[in-house]
Amino acid sequence: MHTHTINLLGAAPGVRHSLTVLQFGSGAGPKATIQAALHADEVPALLVAQVLRQRLLTLEAEGALRGTVQLVPYANPLGLAQHLLGTHLGRFDLRDGLNFNRGHAELAAAVQARVEGRMGDDPAANVARVRAALREAAAALPAETPGQDLKRRLVQTAIDSDIVLDLHADGEAAMHLYALTPQADLAGELGALLGARAVLLATESGDSPFDEACSRPWLLLQQALAPAPLPLACFSATVELRGEADTSHALAAQDAEALLQFLQRRGVIEGLPPALPVPRCEPTPLAGSEPLSAPVAGVVVFHAAVGDMVTPGTLVADVVDVESGALHPVVARSAGVLYARSGTRWATPGKRLGKVAGVTLARTGRLLSP
Ligand SMILES: [Zn+2]
Repeated sequence: MHTHTINLLGAAPGVRHSLTVLQFGSGAGPKATIQAALHADEVPALLVAQVLRQRLLTLEAEGALRGTVQLVPYANPLGLAQHLLGTHLGRFDLRDGLNFNRGHAELAAAVQARVEGRMGDDPAANVARVRAALREAAAALPAETPGQDLKRRLVQTAIDSDIVLDLHADGEAAMHLYALTPQADLAGELGALLGARAVLLATESGDSPFDEACSRPWLLLQQALAPAPLPLACFSATVELRGEADTSHALAAQDAEALLQFLQRRGVIEGLPPALPVPRCEPTPLAGSEPLSAPVAGVVVFHAAVGDMVTPGTLVADVVDVESGALHPVVARSAGVLYARSGTRWATPGKRLGKVAGVTLARTGRLLSP
């Protein structure tokens, strides 16, 4: 195992944050990058990363790594250090209010300018050209703030990977994941291994999350550089490891094993993988994911649990008005699994209370949570 330490732009004299990247394997072969808790308060990811570190050390000692695995055991040291009046705030950068997993680099145009006219008929050679250009474009990303520096360092670390798994957790949630629509088969396979209850697909979420920074350039370049053959050479997914409070040694071990089996199926780890479990869901469009919002301010009382199947008309929650005592129902419009709920029970008007993996809505615009 090689440990790389990346010092981030300092926020003030005497203040130092750094990223740690653990590299397992020789650096050759297919490359996977797994990072934990870019939203720094989604701590089950940090726990899974610790199990992965131990398992990867063992696999490396056994000579079982055919490729290379980069593990970023805590992807957001800035967010890990953010506390306000006793509450840990790891989703947004307190310096500017920006979400740590939105607004990541979109490198397709810069790469296109570098490779246009140099593409040939050999898909593998085209992948190598595009990958080299991605590394160059990522290396040239500017940063003026510690938050921007963090984002570009993470992209620079992962950009030339064959597989990128960004580990998160939701407020209260069943296991679910997000990936690109054209990679539905791989997303379904990863979902089956993890026991995911929802696999949400989009060609663009509209928010430039980290997974799309790594995978989406390939999709855009495949279209822009046609007819030159260019496979989608990076599979990336945001994996939501249930709810933020779901820290369990047993679940962490189970989840780490599922992620390693996915790497084994992709040839990063030696050996014959066990049979794929029966998937617990079919992938559904992210545009069909129904956000359930609070109609008024009040106390949230849930009637449906995470993982419950709901249908149009299912009462998911009440919001209780604390002046009149009136109950305001929050009802599903879609059929599907209630895959996430808010982790808190006080609602302001419009607060996101839950998400249903439906198929009937066709939302447009920005499809992810704020
Ligand atoms: Zn997150």
